[in-house]
This record gives sequence, C-alpha cells and structure tokens, in this order.
Amino acid sequence: MERSTPVASASAMSRKTRQATVAWGSRLVTVGGNAPVRVQSMTNTDTVDVIGTAIQIKALALAGSEMVRLTVNTPEAAQAVPHIRAQLDRMGVDVPLIGDFHYNGHRLLTDYPECAQTLSKYRINPGNVGKGDKRDRQFGLMIEAAIRWNKPVRIGVNWGSLDQELLADLMDQNSRRAVPWDAKPVMYEALISSAIQSAQQAVELGMNPDQIILSCKVSGVQDLISVYRELSRRCDYALHLGLTEAGMGVKGAVASAAALSVLLQEGIGDTIRVSLTPQPGESRTQEVVIAAEILQALELRSFVPSVTACPGCGRTTSTTFQELTQQIEAFLRAQMPVWRNKYPGVEKMKVAVMGCIVNGPGESKHADIGISLPGTGEAPAAPVFIDGEKRMTLRGDAIAQEFQVIVENYVEKRFGGLGATKA
Ligand code: SF4
Repeated sequence: MERSTPVASASAMSRKTRQATVAWGSRLVTVGGNAPVRVQSMTNTDTVDVIGTAIQIKALALAGSEMVRLTVNTPEAAQAVPHIRAQLDRMGVDVPLIGDFHYNGHRLLTDYPECAQTLSKYRINPGNVGKGDKRDRQFGLMIEAAIRWNKPVRIGVNWGSLDQELLADLMDQNSRRAVPWDAKPVMYEALISSAIQSAQQAVELGMNPDQIILSCKVSGVQDLISVYRELSRRCDYALHLGLTEAGMGVKGAVASAAALSVLLQEGIGDTIRVSLTPQPGESRTQEVVIAAEILQALELRSFVPSVTACPGCGRTTSTTFQELTQQIEAFLRAQMPVWRNKYPGVEKMKVAVMGCIVNGPGESKHADIGISLPGTGEAPAAPVFIDGEKRMTLRGDAIAQEFQVIVENYVEKRFGGLGATKA
C-alpha cells in the first residue's frame, strides 16, 4: 500500500552542553556546545623520550587526532613536556597536548610551572588524587593550577580506579535501603557521583564550569551506555566518551563502535577516544582511524573519502577487486594530510569499488566516482562512473593505476581552487 508520509531519515540527536576551548597558540579546539565531536588519542611512548614522543604525536595528529594526551607521571616527564611541545612546534604540529595525571599531579603541576603552562588541558582522575584529608587538598592544588594557567580540565573517572571511599560510602547507604540495589547500580552511581561531585568542588574553588569536561569510562558496552545516559541527564558539562580498555584488534574496534555509536546517536559525547590495544607492530594511529571511522559512519564528521566496496562472492573472479579496494583506500588516506587543506570538501567524496555487474554499476552511480570490475563470465572490462554517468572503460593489467589517476584528476577538478564544481 502506498505510504502517505515519507520514511523519516535517521540522524544523530544533538545535546546542548557547555563549550570548552582547548588551545595551543592560534589553534583553538572547541569541545561541546555546537562544536563537532572531537577525536582524541593518547601516546604510548615514554614521555621522557622527547623525540620519540613528538614523532608519535605528529603521526597521531596527521591521522586526524585533534588533541593528544600523554602521560605525565614523573618529574622527568614533566620536564620533558615543554621540550616535546617545542619539538612539535618546530615540526609545524600545533595539536594541543593534554597531560594525564595520577597520584602526583598536584606536585608536578606546582613544581613544574613550564609543564603546567605548556599543556593545553589537564586530565584529573578523582580516584587517584589522594586519600582521606589529602584528597581535597591535592585535588584543589590541581584545580588551582588550571585556574592559574587558564586551562580546561577533564575530570576523568575510571571504573578501574574508582574513588574507593566514595564507593564504600554509597555501599553503606545502599545497605540501609529498605530494598537495597544490586551492586552494579551502586557502582554506576559511584562513578557518576565521583565525576559530578568533583566538578562541583572544582567550581566552588573558582573553576569556570565551561572549562570542565567529564568522563566516566568503563570497559563493558552496556555499562558504558547506562552510565553515560545517566551522566548526561544529570549535568550539562561537555562529555569525553570512550570504552576504556576496549581490547585488541577486531574485538576492541567493534566493542568501541557498538558502545560509542549508541551514545553518539543519542547526542551524548563531545570528544571520543578509542582505547585500543595495538597489535604487535601495529601503528598507534589505528585508534584514531577507528574513532574517525565511527564518526564518519554515523555521518557526524567526515575525515577521509569513503570507499563503498562489496564483500565479493562466487561471482568475483579474482583477488583483483580486493587489491584495488585496499590500494584505493590506502591511497586516499595517504593523500589526506595534503588534500585536507588543498581540496576542501574532498573528505566527503564517495568512491565505489565493486566486484561485478549485479550491484557494481548501481553503487558506482551512487558514488562520486566508482568502478565496477568484471565478475565471472563477464567481459574483461571495468566501466568507470563519474558523477553518476559512465565515462570510460578500463581494460588490461594496469586498471588499478589508471583508476588512481582518474580519481586524482577528479579530485583536482572538483575540489581544487575556485573552479571547485562537479567534474
Ligand atoms: S556486487 Fe557482484 S561480486 Fe560483489 S557481492 Fe554483489 S554479486 Fe558479488
């Protein structure tokens, strides 16, 4: 039966939060408010290794990380921070740096003012700032440093380092309920209360609430969704989102995507990080690639031209189609550090690489530029579609190279300079 109304198209909801600014020099990265969801990452080098850390930060920034966090755990690490910053500035990398502090952050931020000044944001874990009466004093010293140097902070609670005194107190209160809650909701409450109470404490100490970002990271997908839904209901701070200790490879990527997608679709999350354990030999930048792909899949951001490719099936004649897809994806990604500035809008381009005539021409026509390779029994020819029209047919052994040149020419014509119109 004919519908009287069109099917509504899905899109992520938006949630109004306070907006923080993370700055280095003239580079301003806004977080929350109307800003796009930001991608963050974290180094895994020894911060004392100035050159090694600067090289990794540059790679993360080039991959699309808009802020990079690094461990500041010792006096030597705190002393290294200004040198890392200077090295990055010499390399032309202006990505803001975030200091990750635990246990001794109050001392490091007080004793090493150059470090405190150089960092663009401090991450404070309220579960790791001290115990008993030291806790408030040490937390206060870190907030004082943030106020003195005009830096935003992320109050980042973590499941694995939850404030045990607060948890014990909530467990006590729970045991006095007529019908006590299960342990899990009490744990959720402890995470959320720790973040919100610490933020309130920071505001009472004089911190601008706009400069506070909260996070409550856990390692279970359903736990993360439950905690962030409640956290976002109870405050309007910008939220940093991530599934902590997501794991390695496919598991880590899928778990992160599953958790983050649900929340981002509900408008929850202003910055994200994918906490992926790298496979041996794998680049640290993989966590940035996955974070960007999550945002791109949800149509929240565009970072790199997307490649539509079919999975292949019994009609696919050889691995040519897989190789071409891999080559074109790698090529597009490798061009982006230059194309990003040279060809504004190119990140929204859609490329299709298809395996046979069944869906090949159709998908290729939907893309900006697409190629349909010959399947089993088809003539050995690969039609190329540009802006929905068949423009040429490639044959022979150099299809991959020829298609790459066609893509490059298309990008230049369509996105280059004043004549940036449809090719
Ligand atoms: S487009 Fe062709 S080769 Fe690709 S999955 Fe569909 S039928 Fe198979």
